[in-house]
Amino acid sequence: MEPARIARIFSAFAKANPHPETELLAPNPYCLLVAVVLSAQATDVSVNKATAALFASVQTPEAMLKLGEVGLKNHIRTIGLFNTKAKNVIALSARLVEEYGGRVPTTREALITLPGVGRKTANVWLNCVLGEATIAVDTHVFRVANRLGLCRTRTPEATEAALEKAIPARFLRHAHHWLILHGRYICKARKPLCERCPVAAECAYVASAKIKTKTKAAPAGVRPSSSIRRKRRA
Ligand code: SF4
Repeated sequence: MEPARIARIFSAFAKANPHPETELLAPNPYCLLVAVVLSAQATDVSVNKATAALFASVQTPEAMLKLGEVGLKNHIRTIGLFNTKAKNVIALSARLVEEYGGRVPTTREALITLPGVGRKTANVWLNCVLGEATIAVDTHVFRVANRLGLCRTRTPEATEAALEKAIPARFLRHAHHWLILHGRYICKARKPLCERCPVAAECAYVASAKIKTKTKAAPAGVRPSSSIRRKRRA
């Protein structure tokens, strides 16, 4: 996609929402890391419901270890994969206490060694807490980026690399939040709300749909197919 179109897309996102933020609620960086781990394959709304009571009493890795795996499961059993996630949160809390003095490390290299923390989780945390211009590719970012035509990719890693290269530096800090929120509320997986989309004029998906529609309508002067001609003669 031409750089000017990409700039127009992100200018429109920035105009509509100048300061996009994660919808996960957390009182501090440690709790945000826990919330992001819990949010894998779950909605932010479901995580916020479960963590409201959890974070009211547990805000440090030490307190999480005191609560224990069984206690944590009782808080998060409404979230998908809660057994595995509880194990990971307890294990990562133990690592933070043992190796980092109870604080969350601030590099991607260190973050991704923590149980339950992959590249996407690390990127979300680095972006939200430290303001780094990381691109966390989830299902929404992957879908929206490919529909818009910002990239043509098959994996999250390739999408992250392509977006980092294509998006102008001034938009990178907020780019993944704009794409996530756009995918969550407008460019939905099954039925994108194109009629409400602020970047529809630049969208490759819409452009290709228009071409298909035009091709389907037989223009004047085009001969009908041979099967139609046979039916007409019969
Ligand atoms: S025009 Fe439609 S498909 Fe394209 S980004 Fe907007 S909502 Fe998604």
